[in-house]
Amino acid sequence: MSFKAAIIGRPNVGKSTLFNRLVGRKLALVDDTPGVTRDRRIHAAKLYDLAFDVIDTAGFEDAPAASLPGRMRAQTEIAIEEADVIFFVVDAKAGLIPDDRTFANIVRRSGKPVVLVANKAEARNAQGGLLEAWELGLGEPVPLSAEHGIGIPDLRDAVVEALGKERALGTGDEDDNEALAASEVLIGEDITDPDSENTAYDESKPLRIAVVGRPNAGKSTLINALIGEERLLTGPEAGITRDSISVDWTWQDRQMKLFDTAGMRRKSKVQEKLERLSVSDGLRAIRFAEIVIIVLDATIPFEKQDLQIADLIIREGRAPVIAFNKWDLIDNPQQVLAELREKTERLLPQVRGIQAVPVSAETGRGLDRLMEAVMRTHKVWNSRVSTGRLNRWLEGILAYHPPPAVAGRRLKIKYVTQAKTRPPGFVVSCSRPDVMPQSYVRYLVNSLREAFDMPGVPIRMALRTSD
Ligand code: GDP
Ligand code: GDP
Repeated sequence: MSFKAAIIGRPNVGKSTLFNRLVGRKLALVDDTPGVTRDRRIHAAKLYDLAFDVIDTAGFEDAPAASLPGRMRAQTEIAIEEADVIFFVVDAKAGLIPDDRTFANIVRRSGKPVVLVANKAEARNAQGGLLEAWELGLGEPVPLSAEHGIGIPDLRDAVVEALGKERALGTGDEDDNEALAASEVLIGEDITDPDSENTAYDESKPLRIAVVGRPNAGKSTLINALIGEERLLTGPEAGITRDSISVDWTWQDRQMKLFDTAGMRRKSKVQEKLERLSVSDGLRAIRFAEIVIIVLDATIPFEKQDLQIADLIIREGRAPVIAFNKWDLIDNPQQVLAELREKTERLLPQVRGIQAVPVSAETGRGLDRLMEAVMRTHKVWNSRVSTGRLNRWLEGILAYHPPPAVAGRRLKIKYVTQAKTRPPGFVVSCSRPDVMPQSYVRYLVNSLREAFDMPGVPIRMALRTSD
């Protein structure tokens, strides 16, 4: 059984070009003018050992590219509906525009497996767009140049990962990645000058926080405790301003903005029902926030849903802080805290060193420490490391634990620079990004986290060729 893939994305990102590359023929019309292809096409496609059908949705747009016309949206939804996996294409050269997010939301809502393709990655300064693509929350972007045919092996691997081996290959057999060891290399150009992108840490801006967690974890109690405490400290005349989605308050002279979830209002039964598992609400809160407090009921161990929430926060590039709530009900706090922390580290290795603080929303204990953890994490999330320091660190790494050899040739790393903050994103220039083992990239991320003291936040790393 082969599978069907739909190529989705806003006009002009390179969908038809990718379609043509996959089917190996000039079927779809390609043009610089958005919207030149008119029909939806389905065609047999190949990606090395994967044989499948691909649906091209390019050119449904018959209105200006600035808006997403209804017909195009409808056609896109039909194509998604039909597909087993979605190739979601963005233009790494141009960076994200609001339409990308509109399409990404449609794709996310479908719940189908997604491969995020950052096309035009061979272009100068595509690194910024590549890092931005993470923000769509659709997982790790695959850098690709549909036009020049580079990055195709990674696309193949990403499809297998998204669909599962069995589904992608149509067998349960082990495949052999060795055979695919890429002949194609992602070619990068100049490294974005990190200092040109001025994102200095600004403490005068309110820190945006969202509080998420399962029903009954204690979110509303916690929020009321945080804001209520402030009310006591500053007196009623200081006032708490509320707009439709957020509440402003201050904590130790620091401006805070809290996402106003349904839990903050008095709950009716209906509201409570609505609140349950309202994924879009949770997403909205996460998108709004810089720091997301995950409230866990310490008397109930981690559940799948808690991890899904954490995963979503990390994928969206926000920084999580955990509150182990209802700590007043715990009998042997030291032992339980050690266990919970150990579990947290094990289940969330992507944010090693995550702040996890025991609190009692009901008694107010631990709230100061929780807010300190929030501010500390926020600082890390905003942190920037100079290129000089990074490359001194790199020298040490290369002397101590250099990258492995692949097919008899040692991989070389030349240079590393930070291209982005909030969360920190790094670009590593190396000789063969396509064959650099994931395990080595993880090693780099972990030691970078360690060396520059960046615990608990997602750290992103993009590889590019150095020559
Ligand atoms: P669609 O509207 O999404 O189907 O996009 P097209 O496939 O028609 O491509 C739009 C434009 O982007 C065309 O001018 C293509 O030549 C160009 N393009 C497509 N892929 C790439 C790529 O990998 N790199 C670069 N630099 N340009 C590309
Ligand atoms: P939400 O659904 O996450 O907003 O949870 P609520 O704030 O409504 O709390 C659910 C229940 O847990 C309520 O009965 C609260 O009184 C109780 N609760 C919340 N925080 C604590 C706490 O720190 N200790 C104890 N013992 N109970 C708590």
